[in-house]
Formats: sequence, structure tokens, C-alpha cells
Amino acid sequence: MQLPLPYPAARRAARNGFLPVLALLHLSSFSFLRSGFLGEWTTGWTVSAFIAAGFLVFRDLATSRRENHLPDILSQVAWGVTALLELHALSSAVASSRIVPAAVFPAISFLLPALPAAIYAFSAFVWLSWSPLAGFGGTGTSASIAALAVLGMVTGRAVRNKMMTGNGEMVARKPIGGGRSIVLTGEGDNPPASREEESGEGIQRILEGILPISGADRVMYVSTSHVPGSPLVARHIVPRPKGASRHDQEQEIPDSYVPLQEAMIFRREFFAEGEESFRWGLRKDGKRDRPSGVAAVPVLGDGTEEGAILALRFGEGKWTDPVVPVLEMGAFFIAREVAGTRRRFRDERLLERQVGFNRLARTIAEAAEKSSAGGAESSSPRREVYKTTAEQIRLQLGADRVLLVEAEERRCRGRVVWGTSGQENGVPPFGGRGEEAWTGLGGTYAEWVLKNNVHRIFSGVRTSPGKHPVLPGKWTREDEDAYLLVPVQGAGGFRGILACCSRENRSYHKRDAETVKEILAIMRMGISHALHIETLEERATNDGLTGLLNQKTFRERLSSVLSRLDGRYECAVIMVDIDHFKRINDTYGHPAGDEVLKNISIIIRKTIRKADMAGRYGGEEFVLYLHEADREKAIQVAERLRLIIGQTKFEFGGKEAGVTASLGIACYPSRSRDGRELLEHADEALYRSKQGGRNRTTVYGEPA
Ligand code: GH3
Ligand code: MG
Ligand code: MG
Repeated sequence: MQLPLPYPAARRAARNGFLPVLALLHLSSFSFLRSGFLGEWTTGWTVSAFIAAGFLVFRDLATSRRENHLPDILSQVAWGVTALLELHALSSAVASSRIVPAAVFPAISFLLPALPAAIYAFSAFVWLSWSPLAGFGGTGTSASIAALAVLGMVTGRAVRNKMMTGNGEMVARKPIGGGRSIVLTGEGDNPPASREEESGEGIQRILEGILPISGADRVMYVSTSHVPGSPLVARHIVPRPKGASRHDQEQEIPDSYVPLQEAMIFRREFFAEGEESFRWGLRKDGKRDRPSGVAAVPVLGDGTEEGAILALRFGEGKWTDPVVPVLEMGAFFIAREVAGTRRRFRDERLLERQVGFNRLARTIAEAAEKSSAGGAESSSPRREVYKTTAEQIRLQLGADRVLLVEAEERRCRGRVVWGTSGQENGVPPFGGRGEEAWTGLGGTYAEWVLKNNVHRIFSGVRTSPGKHPVLPGKWTREDEDAYLLVPVQGAGGFRGILACCSRENRSYHKRDAETVKEILAIMRMGISHALHIETLEERATNDGLTGLLNQKTFRERLSSVLSRLDGRYECAVIMVDIDHFKRINDTYGHPAGDEVLKNISIIIRKTIRKADMAGRYGGEEFVLYLHEADREKAIQVAERLRLIIGQTKFEFGGKEAGVTASLGIACYPSRSRDGRELLEHADEALYRSKQGGRNRTTVYGEPA
């Protein structure tokens, strides 16, 4: 993990501890000075505390913007309070005005977390009310100071709780948000058109049109590449050699070529002829041509230089044709052509995006349904939506890695619910489906993005030690240094961050954030769809009243479990029926009966282990499957259940009443060979319990 920050963190911790302790020493030495030794030094001593406090505040103001450091609030408060307390002891006017206690207690409780606030408030209280330390105003005033302390602490706390969401995040918010050197939002970039867009046939036709009237032998359109530092490229050259396509006419020209520099950098026409123009020959195939005339004019679109038209003449004699005005006319039309192409391309791209998003919405809806059809427990409909979303974002942005992080804002932590890097192998960590552990987000930019609900773009972060890490160390990769963080809000209860990470040579732009946000909007729909499906599924497999499996599902799951056990392990089924349940209904009413059923289902759920299953078999009959349990274990569970049910008191309109239950056990594979037999035999054993007088357990094939 490269991003954070062993050294600055240690330095910060040391500083955080060192300066407040120094402040306390300062304060105690003040009383030492005061009590007779070098008495006249005390004023200077207090002044030094003020200087120290002022310096600390100033330093944080100066560095928090530039370096993204958290302000050292603790030290500032320690020194500020020290200075004020000393002032209080020094000047009787200040002491009797009570201004120091009035200011100190609210400030302490507002600025500091609970524990340091308590320590400081206590020290300040002792100082202010104990006369040997407090100086002139001290004696007999502790009651008024105590009142000010309580009032100040309560007010400060209240204001703090209102303004901060957790443990002092508000303090962190400002410097992180202000860190301009690291946060590049990529605002206002108008994506430059690609080569393909510009090299329309239109430019070719314009050049063909101006070639005859310019008197030149070759004209070409030269445009800047969008990658800084790369050579200029002449893209359309007229006359086009026989059989050459638009693409293989391209010719690179060094950016030191003076005629083009004149046109493109200084934005003025260049014209040279005769001997003067010999030196402006262009190199091709290692040879340099020898033009008798060279002219160039800039092509300006929207006030920025798009490129230039370059004309070369190889004929004899003077160049009498109006070449520069003709090229200027061509430049005007080419600029229009480029702008038009760009506009057309943008419209197309929007349309394409629209189609793409419709397709994506369908994919997400299908993903949610697919997982429910599969019924695999490892993949819920929601997880399918997470997966499709993350994968789509990775593809659309060409990101190396995409992490979808679920976050708990209050506790300031998050966990990766889906991570994808597009590679099947070598994906972990965070490239799989496992629910990752919760990880603290405190002090990272991820936290900032979450709190402020604003996307952020970072590039070249790796080279900035001493800054806040973008993601928690566990989630970072050494070779990645470009990030896009987008907050995800309230999608079907989902709250978190989407993080795109990339290696060198890739930086994110504002439009990437827009794309991500649009995909996330679709994810939101997908999640509510998935939740809907999950509810439907739940309804189909579970009983509405108790939430236990319904009979059909219990039977299905039982037979699939048994086919897996294949007679190699023992297991048991327990059937439970409540005794004289009709009486409950008759005496207390049907709703009271329902309440009893619900409570018994809770008892059952608490009794069984994770691998076991419980179902509501009929009206007031329940059924349990005990995984890998022999006869003794089954009897033990059944008896425990019977006793708990018997001991539980139910309240019916103020009156207490109890119920009992009868149970029947069937064991696999000793007497019952499949699911059907197990259920039948358990039912038979239960019938025997009833016949034997109820409130008892019977094992199938044994006397009641
Ligand atoms: P025993 O089993 O001890 O022989 O007596 P019992 O009174 O429980 O008899 P039985 O099992 O035949 O009757 C079941 C009763 O449970 C019938 C019905 O009124 C009641 N019952 C069934 N389903 C529900 C339900 O969902 N809610 C409520 N409140 N009562 C139900
Ligand atoms: Mg019954
Ligand atoms: Mg019954």
C-alpha cells in the first residue's frame, strides 16, 4: 500500500501529543513563576503563550489548503486556553469580568471530542476557581465559575452535535475540500474531437477547391494532435496520390517547422518565395523537397487554433496568384466543417448513449430476475445488480478497477459489496463476490465524498505522500494513481461510493462522472426491482404469519438435503402440534391465537442451529429438520422445545395463559428412508403423543 503515509501520520500523532503537553507545562510554570520566583516574568510568559497559539492557528490556515493536512485543533485549543487562563490570573480587570470562563468552556466543548474536552474543562475549572492559581479573581468565586462552566459546556456540546455528523468530521471537511493541488474536478472540458471525426471528406473537398486558384502544387491541412508534445500531422494532402486513401496520406511534421509555427502559435500568415523558401522544404522518405513558394494560414475555430493550411509551390517564376486570401477563405470553411462534424458527432454520441442506457436498464432488470430463477443462495438479485452495474461502469470508462462500496455514514466506515477488475485471474482482493469486512473511511477522500455528496477526480495521487489517501489502504493498489469517486445515494436503501481506479496514463474527466451517475441512476431502479423480486420470492417460500418455510418449500428442501446426505449421515425430523389450540381461539379470539403462533415460531427459530430448517406445516403444526443429528440429539432438542413452550406465558387482554405442545420424532436413515417417510413417521409419532395424553415427545417406532 503506497498512498498513506507512515511518516506524516507518525509526525502528526507526535505533534498532536507534544504540543498540548507543552501547553500544560507552560501553564504550570506560570504558577511557579508567579509564586514569587522571577515574578516580573509572568507577563512575558503569557505573551509567549498567545504567540504560540496564534502561530498554531496561522500555520494551520496556511497549510491546510496547500497540503490537505487536518488542522491540529487540539494543540490550538491547548495553547489558546493556556494563554487565556494566564491572562485571567495576570489581570484583575479580566478576572473580575469573567470573560475568560465565559469564552473558554464553550470553546473547549465545541472544538474538542468528548474526552479531551472533559480533561481540559476540568483543568480550566480548577485553575479558575482555585485562588493560588487563579490570581486576583479567584477567591470565593467558584460558584459563578461553575455556573459558567456548566452553561458553556452544554451550549458548546449542543452546537457541536448540531454541526457535526460524527467524531469531528466537520473539522476534516474543510481542508480536504480545499485541497486544490490534489483535487482536479475536470470541470468544463469540451472533449476534443478525435482524428476520425475531423478528417471528414468535407476538408478534402475544400482543399481540392482552393488548390487551382491558389497556384500551389500541394495544399495540406495540418492539425495539432490532442496529445501535448506530439508532432503536427498533415492529414489531408491535395493532390492525393493515385490509390492513396485518406489515412495513408498522413504526414508528420516537426513542431519546429517555422511556417506552421507562425500560423498556429502566432496566428498570422506565413509567406515566402524564391530562394527564401528553399529552406522550408518538407522531408519525406528521407529526402527534402525544394519549394519555390511556401504559404501557411491558421485555421481558427471558436477562438482556438484547430490547425493550419499549408501550401507549397514548386513551379518556376513569381507566385502571382492571391495565395494568402485563398488559403484564408479555405481556413474559414475548414473551421466551419470541423465545428459541424463535432456537433454531429456529439448528437450521435448522445443518441448512442441513450440506446446504451436502455440496453443497460434491461440487462440490470434481467440480471435481477436471472438470479432469482437460479435460486442460488450466494447470488441475490441485488448482488446481480451490483455486479452488472460495476461491470458496465468499468467497461464504459475503461477503468482498471471499479469498487462499489456500501457505507455507513454515521460510523464512518464502508465495505466493498462488489469489485471488478475485468480479469478472471489475479482479481483479489476486492475483485470478487465475498462480503468484505467493514473498513474505516476516516481521513480519506472517500469519506469526504460521502459526507459532501460531491464527486471528485484525482490524478497522480501516488506521488503525493503526506496527503490524505483517496481510499483506505486495504483497497488501494500500488500501481494505481488515478481515481474517480462518485457518491451513491439512497438507491433502495443503498448508500455509498463508487470508486473507479486506474493506472498511469489515464485520468478521469467530468464527463466520466456524468456517465457513472447515469448508470447509477439505472442501478437505483434495478435495486428497487430486485427488492421487489426478493419480496415475491420470500412470499412464495415463506409463511406469511410466522416467516418460517411453508410446507411445500420445506418438503422440497428436505428432499434435496436428504439426497445430498445419501444415507451417510444421520438426521431427524420433529413434528410439533400445539395442544388444544382450538380452546385458545375460542376463549381469547383468533388474533390471540395468531400471536401465540408467532411467539412459538420465534422460540423454534432460537432453538435450531444454522444448518437446521424449520417450517410451518399446517395451522398450528410446525416441523423441524435437524442436520446431522442422531436419536438422542433429536430427543434433547424436542424436549427442550417442549419445556420452553410449556413455560412460556402468553398475555391475553391482561390475563396470563400457557400452552403445551406434543411432539413426534422420526430418524434417518435408521427407520425412515426418505423425506416423505420422515414426515409421515414424525406425524405418526406425534399422533401417539396426543393419544398418550399430550404434552410429551414420542420417537417413531418406540413406545410413547
Ligand atoms: P389437539 O391438537 O391437542 O388435538 O387440539 P387442537 O385444538 O389443537 O386441535 P386441532 O389441531 O384439530 O385444531 C387446530 C386448530 O388450530 C384449528 C384452528 O381453529 C386453529 N388454527 C389453525 N390455523 C390457525 C391460525 O393460523 N391462526 C389461529 N389463530 N388459529 C388457527
Ligand atoms: Mg393442535
Ligand atoms: Mg393440529
